[in-house]
Amino acid sequence: MSIARSLLEMIAQYAPANGRARVKVVRLRIGELAGVIPESLRFCFEVASEGTVAQGAELQIEHVPVMSRCTDCRCDFEVEQYAFICPNCDSPNVELISGNELDVIELEVEEEGCP
Ligand SMILES: [Zn+2]
Repeated sequence: MSIARSLLEMIAQYAPANGRARVKVVRLRIGELAGVIPESLRFCFEVASEGTVAQGAELQIEHVPVMSRCTDCRCDFEVEQYAFICPNCDSPNVELISGNELDVIELEVEEEGCP
């Protein structure tokens, strides 16, 4: 639920403040490590967005794979099943490049009423 709320806060920052606009689509980028279950986010968002500009908005979720870089051989690789070990040199010295994202990429907004 807290994710849905912070999402609405982000939307409120981007959305036009004139109260006539309505957010139709919210495009999100979510990393696999962010711990977001899309179905549960959709449900919470639906409840939390009631009465806001984003009420009834559709969530379009783009999943970001977990990517790491080996600090020994500088090889980039996709992490599967939380195996943070370099496939090239077996080093455990790896840093996270992506996978923690929870970003709003784009809002599709519809103006309501007279122009
Ligand atoms: Zn390596």
